[in-house]
Amino acid sequence: MENKTVLVTGGGRGIGKAIALAFAKEGYQVAINYNGSEAAAKETAALCEQEGVSAKIYRCNVADYAAVEAMMKEVADDFGSIDVLVNNSGITRDGLLLRMKEEDFDQVIDINLKGTFNCIRHVARIMMKQRHGSIVNMSSIVGIAGNIGQMNYSASKAGIIGLTKSAAKELASRNIRVNAIAPGFVETEMTKVLSEEAREAAMKVIALKRFASVEDIANLAVFLGSDKSSYITGQIIQVDGGMAM
Ligand code: NAP
Repeated sequence: MENKTVLVTGGGRGIGKAIALAFAKEGYQVAINYNGSEAAAKETAALCEQEGVSAKIYRCNVADYAAVEAMMKEVADDFGSIDVLVNNSGITRDGLLLRMKEEDFDQVIDINLKGTFNCIRHVARIMMKQRHGSIVNMSSIVGIAGNIGQMNYSASKAGIIGLTKSAAKELASRNIRVNAIAPGFVETEMTKVLSEEAREAAMKVIALKRFASVEDIANLAVFLGSDKSSYITGQIIQVDGGMAM
C-alpha cells in the first residue's frame, strides 16, 4: 500500500492510540490529533515511526470549527491526502439528570457531537477532491441503549449515529464511506474510574464476560478504513462482547 494517510482525532492515548498504531502497522502515514496530551501524542507518533511510517502530531480542539478547518488543510498539505479519518475524540461528564450542570451537557455535546461534525465537514472537501475516502466515527453502545447518569454522553453518541447515516447518504456518490463503531466497555482511562460494583454489574450483561481491549476496537477501525470494507457504508457496528443484541 502506497502512502495512504489516516488522521486519528484524540490519537495520542487510549483507544485512539491503539487505532493510530494499528494503521501504522498496516503501512499508513499517521496524523495524530490531540488537545491536552502533547507528551502522549509525541510518544504515539514515535511508536508509529518505529513501524516504518511517517507520523506527525496536530494540536487542535475538535470543538473549534475554524481550528479543525486549519488542521485538515495542514494534514492534507503535509501528507498529500487524507484517505481515512477516524473521529475518536470524546469525553464524559457523567451525572444523574437532576444533578447535571448545563456546562457538563454543553461541553460533551460540543466535543463529541459538534467535534465529529466539524471534522466530517472539513475533511469532506478534501476527500471529494481526492474522489475517495473513509470516515470512521466513534459512537458507543450507550448511544443505542442509553445509560443512567449519561444523558449528555448518550445523546452525543446517538447524535453521532445520525451524523454517520446522513453523511453516508450524502457522500456515497463521491466514493466516500462513513461508518461508526459502537464499543461497549473498553479497558481505558475512561473506564478505570468505574467502581468494582459497576464492573461486576457490567460483566453480568456482557456475553463474552470481559471488557474489550483497545485492539478489539482498533481492528475494526482499520477494516472500516480499508478497501476490504468497500461495500459497507452507513453502518453502526457494535463491538460490545454481545452486550446488546
Ligand atoms: P480517553 O482515554 O479518555 O481519551 C479521550 C481522547 O479524546 C484523548 O485522546 C483526548 O486527547 C481526546 N480529546 C478529548 N477532548 C478533545 C478535544 N476537545 N479535542 C481533541 N481531542 C480531544 O477515552 P477512550 O476510552 O480512549 O475513548 C475514545 C473514544 O471512544 C471516545 O469517543 C469515547 O467516547 C469512545 N468510547 C469509549 C468507551 C470506553 O469504554 N472507553 C466505550 C465506548 C466509546 P487529549 O488528551 O490530547 O485532550
